[in-house]
Amino acid sequence: MRPSRNLRDNTSLVAPIGSNKNTTVNDSRTYVTRPDLPPLEDFLPLLRQIWESRTLTNGGPFHRQLEAALCEYLGVRHLSLFANGTLALITALQALGIRGEVVTTPYSFVATAHALLWNGIRPVFADIDAESLNLDPARIEAAIGPETTAILPVHCYGRPCATEAIADIAERRGLRVIYDAAAAFGVKDAGGSVLRHGDLSVLSFHATKVFNTFEGGAIVSPDVATKQRIDQLKNFGYVDEVTVVEAGINGKMSEFNAALGLLQLPRVDQAILRRREVDALYRALLTGVAGIRCLPPVAEVATNHAYFPILVEAAYPLSRDGLYDRLKAAGIHGRRYFFPLISDFPMYRHYPSARPENLPVASAVAGKVICLPIYPELDDATVAAACRLIAAP
Ligand SMILES: *Cc1c(COP(=O)(O)O)cnc(C)c1O
Repeated sequence: MRPSRNLRDNTSLVAPIGSNKNTTVNDSRTYVTRPDLPPLEDFLPLLRQIWESRTLTNGGPFHRQLEAALCEYLGVRHLSLFANGTLALITALQALGIRGEVVTTPYSFVATAHALLWNGIRPVFADIDAESLNLDPARIEAAIGPETTAILPVHCYGRPCATEAIADIAERRGLRVIYDAAAAFGVKDAGGSVLRHGDLSVLSFHATKVFNTFEGGAIVSPDVATKQRIDQLKNFGYVDEVTVVEAGINGKMSEFNAALGLLQLPRVDQAILRRREVDALYRALLTGVAGIRCLPPVAEVATNHAYFPILVEAAYPLSRDGLYDRLKAAGIHGRRYFFPLISDFPMYRHYPSARPENLPVASAVAGKVICLPIYPELDDATVAAACRLIAAP
């Protein structure tokens, strides 16, 4: 598969290597991602079914089918669909009754920590590991205090956390573990789906993710009782027609989104395969570029290639923002995920753990990272053009 719809004339996108001329921009820009969609014609019959049944939400037939199909695809036993990943994160914390303080990473999308604030929980930021960019288990352990009740790690860029070390800490210290697996759709380690780790795992099906339902999300539960409780909490806390047991939220996925998900699921393997090719091409073309570091592939992990981050080190002639601007001027819009750190946003920076001195690795990485475009429709010529710009600053 070599799709080329996104750019009509890739060769005019950038000046050749060695040229001092400013790079030219045509009207087709390349963004960090471009959502994969099924043919619109395939969606129309499903919409017709929704129109005929008048079942729009509240666990309709497409919702039930998608839950079953996702359990099978992901290799998990129980899954609850949500309207988005953030509501799923908020509900996961509520379902386990998490209180007090939770240790989490500053190097993530802001929704990770927001889910804590929505539950009245104080985040405690711990630093990340310089190689994996996931929470450093030693720093988790050091951050645990008398009020700590749980750990909220993130499989950053879909790359698995140190799940065994985290399980060991949680067991020794009596803590719950909720994984923000928003970016880890379909990721498997040597033992199977990464979603089996921890007490709960949370997925996002946002437009920018590897598997999208426009907006959507899910919680993976270990047992049917936990799934039932979560299903009640996402429906205002209703247990039956006349009984409400808790202040649940409205987190339900609609039939529209669930039907779309059923069409997306058979496409996702092919999409990940093309992402893998793009990843390999970036690695091949960026090898040996002084000052540019790619994250190493993770051993024994089938990853989903959700992102392609590069780190712009001191040996590179331009600053990170210099390179970011240069790419953008040529129509290649990377994203500085994750900059600023969550701990630098105004609602977090007063926490003692948010101080940059406490987070030296995360602070340094946030100043170096650019996520380059990666998505199934991205063609080789655009990847090559981006790499030429990077290689000849
Ligand atoms: C996308 C994302 C979220 C939020 O998911 P939404 O579905 O957009 O609400 C949370 N955490 C991480 C790490 C994400 O990448």
